[in-house]
Amino acid sequence: MAGSEHTPLMQQYLRIKSDYPDILLFFRMGDFYELFYDDARRAARLLDITLTTRGQSAGQPIPMAGVPYHAVDSYLARLIKKGESVAICEQIGDPETSKGPVERKVVRIITPGTVTEEALLEDRQDRLLAAIAPARKGFGLAWLDVAGGRLRFSEPATIQELAAEIERLRPVEILFPEDHDLPLSGVLAALRPTAAWNFDGESGERELCRHLGVQDLSGFGVSGRGPGLGAAGALLGYARDMLAGELVHLTGLRQVEASEHLVLDAATRRHLEIDIHPDGRLEHTLVGLMDSAATPMGSRKLKRWITHPLRSRQRLAARHGAVETLLNTHAHPALAEQLSGIGDLERILTRIALKSARPRDLASLREGLSRLPALSDSLDQFDDTALAELANALAPCPDLQDLLERAVIEQPPMVIRDGGVIADGFDAELDELRGLSRNAGDFLVRYEEQERERTGIANLKVGYNRVHGYYIEISRIQSDKVPTEYSRRQTLKNVERYITEELKGFEDKVLSSRERALAREKALYEELVEHLAGQHRRLSTLAAAIASLDVLVAFAERAETLRFSRPSLIETPGLELVNGRHPVVEQVQDQAFVPNDCRLDPDRRMLVITGPNMGGKSTFMRQTALIVILAHAGSFVPADSARIGPMDRIFSRIGAGDDLTRGRSTFMVEMVETANILHNASEHSLVLMDEIGRGTSTFDGLALAWAVATELALNIRALTLFATHYFELTRLAEDHEGIANVHLDAREHGDQIVFLHSVREGPASQSYGIQVARLAGVPRPVIAQARKHLRRLEDDAARAHSPQLGLFSTSPGGESSAPEPDPLRELVDQLDPDQLSPREALDWLYQLKASSQEDDH
Ligand code: ADP
Repeated sequence: MAGSEHTPLMQQYLRIKSDYPDILLFFRMGDFYELFYDDARRAARLLDITLTTRGQSAGQPIPMAGVPYHAVDSYLARLIKKGESVAICEQIGDPETSKGPVERKVVRIITPGTVTEEALLEDRQDRLLAAIAPARKGFGLAWLDVAGGRLRFSEPATIQELAAEIERLRPVEILFPEDHDLPLSGVLAALRPTAAWNFDGESGERELCRHLGVQDLSGFGVSGRGPGLGAAGALLGYARDMLAGELVHLTGLRQVEASEHLVLDAATRRHLEIDIHPDGRLEHTLVGLMDSAATPMGSRKLKRWITHPLRSRQRLAARHGAVETLLNTHAHPALAEQLSGIGDLERILTRIALKSARPRDLASLREGLSRLPALSDSLDQFDDTALAELANALAPCPDLQDLLERAVIEQPPMVIRDGGVIADGFDAELDELRGLSRNAGDFLVRYEEQERERTGIANLKVGYNRVHGYYIEISRIQSDKVPTEYSRRQTLKNVERYITEELKGFEDKVLSSRERALAREKALYEELVEHLAGQHRRLSTLAAAIASLDVLVAFAERAETLRFSRPSLIETPGLELVNGRHPVVEQVQDQAFVPNDCRLDPDRRMLVITGPNMGGKSTFMRQTALIVILAHAGSFVPADSARIGPMDRIFSRIGAGDDLTRGRSTFMVEMVETANILHNASEHSLVLMDEIGRGTSTFDGLALAWAVATELALNIRALTLFATHYFELTRLAEDHEGIANVHLDAREHGDQIVFLHSVREGPASQSYGIQVARLAGVPRPVIAQARKHLRRLEDDAARAHSPQLGLFSTSPGGESSAPEPDPLRELVDQLDPDQLSPREALDWLYQLKASSQEDDH
């Protein structure tokens, strides 16, 4: 049937497309990238560009959408942000000599996790590609920062650890074996189910050895053959495919041990608002507050330091010492100034290694190198080991700086394509070729004059256009004066254009010298990039040192501006904070912040915190954790003094009570998270429990809170801050050692309540809920009713002597002295808490919860 065949161009397109069925194919057509068929529809929708058609093929119109070649970066950036990947297909053949469609090839695949282009990356954020390899026991997890050239892996033992790592790293793209489901839900990343054999541990190890050029990985401190190597191998293979080349800049590998970092799980990081805030504003997070780094790479490192708090006291003391030295000498403002001109060396080096560096990358590198001598001079003044080490690593590179100064013009253009990048005087051959085309201007002026005189045509002009080349233009009316040796090139409305032998000869010479100059320039450029790529190791050490210095300088600046002090890391368990503050709340609120002390030690392991809503309980708990985290990032902390003992993890749970609208499942989440803490916390863990048990009825909520609190305090012996509105829990301190009560102070002032936000020893003396309700505008008669009801409850509670710590004295049915028969309550009454371990009580409550849920249906 006529027309059923695809055109040769479409055949070529479909052949290439069949290799990339799932991702958008940007098909180069002259000055455009075009997308066809379903890709066109999808791109039109995603990018809000016009969907049209391009001719017909196989008897059907071809749906098409296109973007101009020169603006492609902005479109790619938008697609990457949406988690899409794009295959870039270029014309690689010569259109002049091709028969049929010019040869085309996919030269690069851009995926969210493998971008290195400056225009497509956020300055101050790492972009990580991750791979998860589920194993019989635990998981292999590897992550790769392509733009920064870092490959790491770890082997989380449980799904919770894996989830915490993923939350910490927030990769933008995740590979996992296609015969498994991704073991996590709710991950905001592009997911890539990948053939399972890619994750094999042994081949992973072989691949890594080959890539790193070593016999085995022991030089990188890696021994054994866990699933982490399988994941790392999968990553390497994938990134190589996407970049269509070797990752030559990737010269290291590191296994991250769980014991290396202070572990913060996913929920804790969210609750503490370390790098995300529910209102989406980065400045309301700890990272946002702390980031005053001068360079983008410093910013990214600072974020890594805060989100991966270290446990090595030695390394932390080195960081604290450096910050102190910078503060004492007040050197940080000048250093920040020097650093600010350095730019994003780290990513520039990656682009150099991948040979995708643009001329401006080289100019920035030159600028950065030019600042080194002064910077390393400034560092020499310090008597500090950490700073001295950095000073050593900051050795200037006069050779490279000189080369770049000679080779690249002051302000090079964006791309090498049209030349004009290599400076005059760098290469004699280039200078000569350029001379030829530069002199063209003089020649043309002279030639025009000469021909005007010779022909007597006063408005004769010599011009140039890209299609027809050089020409002599004469208006139509004068055409009778045209000499015979002029041959016509082009006829326009009012003018005729001609060419002569002489002009043609000149054109050939100019064009060819221009072409040759451009070719020469491109070759020189490639050579230059190649040479710099050969210096990768030295330059990347340099970049890493600059980034570290930048973070330390930022820490010093923050410490001064925000009045932080140096923490001491001590060997005795516990912590002692004097006048601690919440660094973010203090900055964002207008009201003065009230500092508070916090003391925890083996004899005072748990503080039960009571006090009115809005009194400051959460703030107090969070500031304690943030101080510990900052100290473990190497920063000073918002307290007058801070002594911090050994820590292994921080857990923070917030009760689901504020989120009742989301139904029971939220309560389940709270309980699952709580179970996780009970399984993983140790006596070196800092545990924050905020209103746990609120997501359920008073009755079992209180029982749960009690069970969890005693388990933490008595068995796990974790350092715990336990905020609760169950006043009954204040009795724990009376019955058990190691537990103390504190409360947030508030005063009744007439019928007003004033929050003092100061933490005092002992339980809160009153329940302020009703006053708060009044403040919130609840009508007076309702408040009066509530007061009456409260008094009745209190009387009841006084009358009913409960053997179980008075646990159930405020159960909903508590207002009458003879409660209605309640099967749950009877069950509880039969239980003797002294016989029942808290964990058993928890299990029991679980079952209860489950059975009562079934009844509801
Ligand atoms: P709670 O957890 O007791 O309900 P929050 O910790 O959420 O109370 O604190 C409520 C508000 O009180 C905070 O948003 C903050 O504005 C203010 N606040 C808390 N602690 C302090 C403090 N120490 N100094 C000043 N204001 C504080």
